[in-house]
Amino acid sequence: MNLKINIAQLSTELETLASFSDAPAPAVTRVVFSETDLRARCYIKDLCANAGLTVREDAVGNTFARWIGSDPELPAIGTGSHIDAIPNAGRYDGTVGVLGGLEAIRALQREGVRPRRSIELVLFTSEEPTRFGIGCLGSRLLSGALDLAKASSLKDKEGKPLDEWRETARFTGDLRSVALPQGHYAGFVELHIEQGPLLEQHGTALGVVTAIAAPASLRIWIEGEGGHAGAVLMPNRRDALCAAAEITLALEAAVRNSGAVDTVGTTGVCDVFPGAINSIPVRVRLEMDVRDIDEARRDSVLARFRASCEEIAARRRVAVRIEMINADPPAACDKQIIAALADGAARHRLSCEHMVSRAYHDSLFMARIAPVAMLFIPCRGGFSHRPDEFASPEAIMNGTLSLAEALAELAARGN
Ligand SMILES: [Zn+2]
Repeated sequence: MNLKINIAQLSTELETLASFSDAPAPAVTRVVFSETDLRARCYIKDLCANAGLTVREDAVGNTFARWIGSDPELPAIGTGSHIDAIPNAGRYDGTVGVLGGLEAIRALQREGVRPRRSIELVLFTSEEPTRFGIGCLGSRLLSGALDLAKASSLKDKEGKPLDEWRETARFTGDLRSVALPQGHYAGFVELHIEQGPLLEQHGTALGVVTAIAAPASLRIWIEGEGGHAGAVLMPNRRDALCAAAEITLALEAAVRNSGAVDTVGTTGVCDVFPGAINSIPVRVRLEMDVRDIDEARRDSVLARFRASCEEIAARRRVAVRIEMINADPPAACDKQIIAALADGAARHRLSCEHMVSRAYHDSLFMARIAPVAMLFIPCRGGFSHRPDEFASPEAIMNGTLSLAEALAELAARGN
């Protein structure tokens, strides 16, 4: 097999996809179910149809494009990622895994490969939490990781529920029908930019992911007492923002005390009410993110943090309520898929290293119903989620080539 990636076409397609944006170039904003997102989906579906793939959409908009194998009853091999982009993001996050996956399939077709198992490209709905406050909505539902009652109660910031958004986007039907059974896929591989600096720093062409870190997100409500900034004297204050400041530092301390470099914690949102210079903050909402590749260690950090919150609440006489948005287990990648990816890279003399994914991806949830692995390509400076996000055509070509090799190998297997 002498696989060739049509990098000129793939680059053009990535550029065209980036033009479906609600922000001026080079920034990309493509929030799930926006008009722009729906137009971008049509573009991808057309490309898939042109490649002879059979396209299906489910009730939440996950899109599947299947290259039917010679033994179509066997569980398929899946690949894919997402095309939604947070406000003011770049053009490579997720999209490389979708368009690269498609080009991998086309490269195999051009080479005359006839896979035994079907190979299915997946475009996941709402990997980014922008609209509904929870990441990986589509893959959570596919893998049964999200309670259906919780899914139906999801709303955007304006209070418009998920079901209404589905109607707007014309993805109707019962959410129960989204979940795929165990064994639907014999394996799933996601190609993605690294979103970190290691591959570039090491001068390595590819990263084969061995584990995906376990994310947890929390929303914290702090309720104190407001009042006039001049009139209420300090001994009488129950300032919600001062408590929030302590709580933010308490998270940092709990994370640092874990003693492991893999434990990270971030407070990314601090909303202050009423937000006036001469008014004591009465209410604060914090949103926090804690991750680790070790679930037990992450959970013990969370337990320590909760204890600190209680102590701060009592001492400052404020009410603190902690809402767990999600606390997901980490995923270990599958040894056989890891080997197939490493073999694919070796066949083209591409250097590759094993690594952990600290960002989470749809593969974290696909791991609940299928063996998974991920393939990372370097991105400049490790930058992501910003307009100057960049992966070189060479890096994209290397990733797509190795993905194609792995897909061919995995799809040829009988069991
Ligand atoms: Zn992504």
